[in-house]
Amino acid sequence: MTNDPDAPRRWNGHHGPVLHSRDGFDVIDCAACGFRHVVPIPDEDALRDIYKHDYHVKDKPLMLQHQLEDREWLEATGDARLAVLERLLGRVGSLLDVGAGNGFFLARAKALGWAARGVEPSDKAAAHARSLGLAVDCETFGPACAARLGRFDVVHLGEVLEHLPDPAGMLRLCGTALNPGGLLAVSVPNDYTAVQRVLHQDLGVRPWWVAPPHHLNYFDRDSLEGLFRRTGFAPCHAAVSFPMELFLLMGKNYLDDPALGRECHAMRKALELALLGSGNSRLLEALHEGFARAGMGRTLLVVGRKQQQDAP
Ligand SMILES: [Zn+2]
Repeated sequence: MTNDPDAPRRWNGHHGPVLHSRDGFDVIDCAACGFRHVVPIPDEDALRDIYKHDYHVKDKPLMLQHQLEDREWLEATGDARLAVLERLLGRVGSLLDVGAGNGFFLARAKALGWAARGVEPSDKAAAHARSLGLAVDCETFGPACAARLGRFDVVHLGEVLEHLPDPAGMLRLCGTALNPGGLLAVSVPNDYTAVQRVLHQDLGVRPWWVAPPHHLNYFDRDSLEGLFRRTGFAPCHAAVSFPMELFLLMGKNYLDDPALGRECHAMRKALELALLGSGNSRLLEALHEGFARAGMGRTLLVVGRKQQQDAP
């Protein structure tokens, strides 16, 4: 035993320095996993209850309302992501959306000619997705579900991996659901970025991105691409979304002000819709690439190609 506050935190084989602590969880930079995550890692059964019953009902009750308000923007950004996937695959094909939520991304995939199917643990969200005419199974994506659904050209996980106690296990499972040469597309919050460090360490803003028990894992591009490689995927594309942190730097502290947050979000939507709607998606991509180089970007998308052999 040691009382050294800088000693690495150890828990069930995970070990690394503590970056932040909140609500009984420590975020560690885990040397065993190669990415930042909380310890203790919550029990899988407890999480299953959260995502089946509570997440879309109690924890994020406004998500559907906001998504309906954002529909035009969600469709435009969904289409842009699907265009990237079509370019990397060389065609449209079959797509499985794991954690399909209310079904907005899946609906765009279907509309653009993909053979689209989803899996979503939340009763409420899956019901909404089905009301859009989508094929969505209401369950947690596990080995039995993967075996039943068969293989796809693309597996997509949008804002899923940060919630899971075993992200490496999930990526390996996704590999079993992919055809040879198929693509895995994962978007997650982009965390512990340079701009977050400036805001927190130099400007005294609290570390708002630390959000257990919902967010268990905190990826950046290096750690997510590393996880791809270790689970049988060769990264072939990475991009970030608009850095909402810029509003904090510009004096618009929306962290405890949901109305201001929606206002900032509306400005970001306006920028993206102006460029996407006027045929200038390449300029938006270039803008995002610049933000990524500067260590910014609210979410991160990494696409990887399944390696020849199934991951062990
Ligand atoms: Zn670990």
